[in-house]
Amino acid sequence: QECSKKQKNDDTQSTSVDALSSNDGSEEKNEFDTVANAKIFLSDCLACDSCMTLEEGARVFQQNQKEFFRILNLNKKCDTSKHKVLAVSICPQSLPYFAAKFSLSVNEAAKRLCGFLKSLGVHYVFDTTIAADFSILESQREFVQRYQRRNQEEHALPMFASACPGWIRYAERVLTNLVTSHICTAKSPQQIMGSLVKGYFARQQNLSPDKIFHVVVAPCYDKKLEALREDFYTALYNSPEVDCVLTSGEVAQIMEQKNVSMKDVAEVAVDSLFDDLKEGDVVRHDGKRSDGYLEHIFKHAAKELFGMDVKEITYKALKNKDFQEVTLEKDGETVLRFAAAYGFRNIQNMVLKLKKGKFLYHFVEVLACPGGCLNGKGQAQTEDGKPDRALLAQMEEVYTAIPVRLPETNLYVQKMYQDWLEGMDSKKVQDTLHTTYSAVNQTTSSLDIKW
Ligand code: SF4
Repeated sequence: QECSKKQKNDDTQSTSVDALSSNDGSEEKNEFDTVANAKIFLSDCLACDSCMTLEEGARVFQQNQKEFFRILNLNKKCDTSKHKVLAVSICPQSLPYFAAKFSLSVNEAAKRLCGFLKSLGVHYVFDTTIAADFSILESQREFVQRYQRRNQEEHALPMFASACPGWIRYAERVLTNLVTSHICTAKSPQQIMGSLVKGYFARQQNLSPDKIFHVVVAPCYDKKLEALREDFYTALYNSPEVDCVLTSGEVAQIMEQKNVSMKDVAEVAVDSLFDDLKEGDVVRHDGKRSDGYLEHIFKHAAKELFGMDVKEITYKALKNKDFQEVTLEKDGETVLRFAAAYGFRNIQNMVLKLKKGKFLYHFVEVLACPGGCLNGKGQAQTEDGKPDRALLAQMEEVYTAIPVRLPETNLYVQKMYQDWLEGMDSKKVQDTLHTTYSAVNQTTSSLDIKW
């Protein structure tokens, strides 16, 4: 479907959302504006979703606090056949919001959030970091394979990251065939967590997937749309991998409505997917402002393809701090060139280069939000809908201080590859951890939605 706002010239919201970028990239700005005038703006696309169908709109709006309480109330009724096991998975980019907002350490925030959710009647609270481990491992393997096929296969490179649903929606609906075959097929951490909860965990607990109601707490609204994708559905049980996404801000609203401060909630250890084990301290991935795809894939590719151990990654800022480049040199030649492009302005610049055939990058970590996921529109917003810069600065500090754990060192992940996924190259890995992206040409009527 054509974007209804393609001709709009007012970019005011883009400016406000782009507030974290220190420099707009003046050299390419005119070129960008020309392209953008003919296309759409951030305010028109990511924050609007006017291309959403009526059905999608209705199902997105269903994913709210009311739906969460509907399940909690259902569980209090006498009819046990309608009861659900309520599992909540928390994204690591949401925890710094709760930590900074309530002046807690990130470990206290995780445990108190868990305590709060359990006090409401939630049965299990998980951390999605393990799902990000799988997503990163699959992405780095796919990059190496694509690199090795680059001379035989036209669309093997560049590879674009697939974890951000805002970017994916824009890619599939606006950029279409120009980019879809270049998008990494590894599922996002949210959807891999869906498979782990409705697949692995359900089996461990002897539960049918539709007996579990799986909620994800995430930093943005785009994740609600992602949960609706048709391929993220267990058809046999008529059960989505993720039933409901609540933003961090929506969870904070529940606390406000209940008159609860995180400071007064008891700490409860976060559950793990394995028997009665509990999660230890919060860990994160490499990469100070993202899930770390660029850094992990870069180091893995340097080792696998060129036998080089990269300890530290040096970013070169291009037009602004949200458009940076990393290169690997060998024998005086640049053998790997990666970029991080955050925010719609930088995505547009990147696409412009691709269209002109001047694309030098092998991999780009694309995130729709300037500054990355901490700046998702579902958290740390002021009342007038702008990023709360002071809170964001604190959140970045909290996030950066979390210790890094390499996905390769997670023994549970290795065990799950062997015991549950039937090896690393199995069909089950493809079915469970990967998906496909393609141009979407919608013809149904649309709904103009402002988040
Ligand atoms: S970059 Fe923004 S839209 Fe994309 S996943 Fe992160 S928070 Fe969501």
